[in-house]
Amino acid sequence: MVEGHEIRVRVNPFDTERANRVFRILEARVRERCSAAVTRSRENPHLVLNVEPGLAGEAFRIREEGRAMAIESGTPLGLLYGVGKFLRTSRFDGTLTASPWRGVSAPRGSLRGVYFATHFHNWYHVAPEEEITRYVEDMALWGVNAVKTAFPFINLRDWEDPETEHALAMTRKFARTAHDLGLQFAIGVNNTMFSGAPSHIRAVPLPDPTRRRGNSGYPVCPSNPEGREYLLANARRLFEELSGVGLDLLTFWPYDEGGCACDRCSPWGCNGFLNLSHAFTELAREYFPNIKTVLSTWMFDTPPEGEWEGLTKAMEGGNDWVDYILADAHEDFPRYPLDVGVPGNLPLVNFPEISMWGNWPWGGVGANPLPARFQRLWNQVKHVVSGGFPYSEGIYEDMNKTIIAQFYWTPERSARDTLKEYIAYEFGDGAIEETVALVDALEMAATRSYTKQPVDVGLVRTARELADNVHEKMPAWARTSWRWEILCLRAILDYERFAGEGLTAPEAERALERLMEIYHCEMETDDPYHHRVRPPLARAVSRRGNL
Ligand SMILES: [Zn+2]
Repeated sequence: MVEGHEIRVRVNPFDTERANRVFRILEARVRERCSAAVTRSRENPHLVLNVEPGLAGEAFRIREEGRAMAIESGTPLGLLYGVGKFLRTSRFDGTLTASPWRGVSAPRGSLRGVYFATHFHNWYHVAPEEEITRYVEDMALWGVNAVKTAFPFINLRDWEDPETEHALAMTRKFARTAHDLGLQFAIGVNNTMFSGAPSHIRAVPLPDPTRRRGNSGYPVCPSNPEGREYLLANARRLFEELSGVGLDLLTFWPYDEGGCACDRCSPWGCNGFLNLSHAFTELAREYFPNIKTVLSTWMFDTPPEGEWEGLTKAMEGGNDWVDYILADAHEDFPRYPLDVGVPGNLPLVNFPEISMWGNWPWGGVGANPLPARFQRLWNQVKHVVSGGFPYSEGIYEDMNKTIIAQFYWTPERSARDTLKEYIAYEFGDGAIEETVALVDALEMAATRSYTKQPVDVGLVRTARELADNVHEKMPAWARTSWRWEILCLRAILDYERFAGEGLTAPEAERALERLMEIYHCEMETDDPYHHRVRPPLARAVSRRGNL
């Protein structure tokens, strides 16, 4: 089969850019992991990459074809999903031992997104284009079919702000990167835009007894005619600026950031928010006639205001503009769509919070894998959810993203099963169980720390020893990957903060510095939000303070 030092690959059709891109993605991953040379050859191939209209667009099949192996799909994107499965189930031990996996696989969830929160000078905001491209490819290999970013209004004063052009370029870059791979591209608009929004059109602050609606930013009241004009004019400008790259999905977010508590907007979620989102949709259709919309219900009814019921009533009155309803929460899933049903009987998508829980600053002490947590939360919704957008502040929760992507693909697949496949693919198959134990220990430490329970010294010592042991057993290609580094650095930092001399100990400082390099953080920053995503190195400076 596909073993030895030369792997001849036939790409069919051979002359399309998308199919050849899939070949190059495969070739690059194999080259990094072993000495086998992957070459294109139309004669005597070991492996055939086939785009064939016979299979449904996103499904793939891996089968024998004579003496060769074939990976095939109806589209280049489906072919990429098949290559992902092939890579993750192959073994790299000096050379390549080809995957024994055979069969057909098709996704159950239709909208398998990731949300890159491109702000605060986090990794998505500042990473070089080649790293971003590579990362989006990696997400696609796991089955993702949509990328959402935030246009970082919160960091900008207005269209004339010197950073605005950069923010637009970044947004276009994500759109192009997604589209080049056949993924959908999404952004969100709501009533929080630039920091320069005039004070007389600002929203009335919302009650926020649970302190989780988000109180940053500069929300504007859309019931104030001037406020509405400001919001729609900025949305129009944004759509115009993105009309060259295209937009497939538009999301609307009621809170965090956003909302207005004035009489005319209340209750926000089923009144002011709904009217504004409808107006945004009509505007977007002028530029993107086939655009689909996702209406979020984040933090609805906290406190109870009848927002869910109001939304149900509004959808019963007719709906020609909402395609998906999004629901989720920081903790357990909202009961309303599970108990009563989804407003308008629309497909329901979720928004797993994979970034902030159990760590602060986000990613500040390295990887934050939480497989048990996401399995528990997924079990509440896997029978009703058609996909979603996990919320990501950086690459430190890469493991969480892949677990969610595979939930969307195969709802019954366990987080643990995906985790093992991840470990084998990214770190080699020499120490899978020990690496799982390491991840379990890190999750337990995060859980205890988050719930304000003492973190057992024995636990963090075990994690550190496991990291050292696994490191010794690893192939060289895996040892130097950032994915392994951030996991190791987390074990070091947990040990230092819970059992050692704290985060100012020399070894902890070295670990924090290395994380800052991996994340491209700023040692001195003018971004008052950067501290939320910057490892907590004592000498790092926020010149404008911390918001
Ligand atoms: Zn208002």
